[in-house]
Amino acid sequence: MDAVPFISNNPTVEDCWRGVVLYGRNTASYKFALASALLDMRPVAGQLIKLEDLAPHFAKQIARHLVESPKQITTSKGKFIDACLAFNQDQNLNSLVDATVAHGFTNVIDAFHVVGSGPVLHKFFEDERRANKGIRITDEFTKLAEGIQSPNFAQEVESRWRLVEMAWNLGIAVNLLNVKHDHVAGEIFTFDKGARRKTVTSSRAALNGYQKGKCFYCYADLSLVGEAMNVDVDHFFPHKLKQHAGINVDGIWNLVLSCNSCNRGTNGKFDRIPSVNLLQKLHTRNEYLIGSHHPLRETLMAQTGLTVSKRITFLDSTYKRVQLNPGFAWEPVEKVS
Ligand SMILES: [Zn+2]
Repeated sequence: MDAVPFISNNPTVEDCWRGVVLYGRNTASYKFALASALLDMRPVAGQLIKLEDLAPHFAKQIARHLVESPKQITTSKGKFIDACLAFNQDQNLNSLVDATVAHGFTNVIDAFHVVGSGPVLHKFFEDERRANKGIRITDEFTKLAEGIQSPNFAQEVESRWRLVEMAWNLGIAVNLLNVKHDHVAGEIFTFDKGARRKTVTSSRAALNGYQKGKCFYCYADLSLVGEAMNVDVDHFFPHKLKQHAGINVDGIWNLVLSCNSCNRGTNGKFDRIPSVNLLQKLHTRNEYLIGSHHPLRETLMAQTGLTVSKRITFLDSTYKRVQLNPGFAWEPVEKVS
């Protein structure tokens, strides 16, 4: 099983956007706030957004998250976070905007597009702070905003943000982070230091980006919102195996997003075991989860192994144990290649 990079040599605008959201390094939650602000403002290609106009959209996102998750930065707080905290007390928007323009954008505009060692291929704005005191929206942002996957992005950003801040705010060692899935509620949860259960985020929103917004089985576009919603959380190794010698079927490693049709439509999977070709895809999807930073990384490693070879062995051995009749394995009808 060879590793497949999430961002290929010829990435789409969606791949680059998700690269920023899912794989960007975070010492603070500012990238998530900027991504949310841009989705919220829906600017058009060529538009100059002055920092003073961006500031309320950006800073209010941070202020909102501070209410439930006080740690939004892993270094010392500084004037910008103090201004957001003050805003939560006095609702003085002018003060918040002034502080944000002065201190809030220092690193986030420079760092937004950086994933790994360099910027992603498609940029969503150009930095014009020196010449025009703002950022200018690119054609790529418009392409992203007009794409079929666009309605899912706000949930994906929010979900990733909640996972990251959960890791910062729980105050436990990174290697002990572990999240679980509540299949009935469709939610990811964890436990705090006092062993109290804490809901973190919708599992659909958390997992969608890692599948590039596509059905795990047939590549149909998934929709997380509105009437077009068509997403099921599916157990790759079916739930009926729960009692099968020690298989943790409810672990995140075994949960994929499926369109309704593949999961339970005509010729759907139901409780069958997928073909071995799909086992390779599960490995790739799980490596995508592990490639992003906490807490999904730690959870997947705890469930499937600390190294790539151990994780491959884990999947292969699980498959061998349950696949009693390979001729009966399920395959989807692919809708898009
Ligand atoms: Zn499907």
